[in-house]
Amino acid sequence: MALTRTQTKKLRDELNRLHAALLEEVRDELEASENEQMAELLGRTPADSADFSFADALADLNVAMVDRHVHQLRDIEAARQRIGAGHFGICIDCGTEVDFDRLMAYPTAKRCLRCQQQRERLYAHESTPKM
Ligand SMILES: [Zn+2]
Repeated sequence: MALTRTQTKKLRDELNRLHAALLEEVRDELEASENEQMAELLGRTPADSADFSFADALADLNVAMVDRHVHQLRDIEAARQRIGAGHFGICIDCGTEVDFDRLMAYPTAKRCLRCQQQRERLYAHESTPKM
């Protein structure tokens, strides 16, 4: 069943909350590292600004300590774009709709539970040293 408008709104709110929380963390770290230029940029640009990618800006900055956030930010920004484009919550592997409960738990989920488990099994297998 496709997501209802209310469900989509809930998920968008959750993504915005995660995005804002991440940016807050990044801003604190940049301030602590005295990267004031970037901290100021983050402070000035609205977190829900659709035409500005914080992930890209941070990646350009290439600060090791914020690198780990960039991946998460990209995931969140990509999810928000999928909502905007109207194909949010569709598994990128099999094309079925991802459960709302799963999306609420992992709003950036790109796969349905079945495909995700399959993928994780694959990765677990790959990380096993081959004798
Ligand atoms: Zn799937």
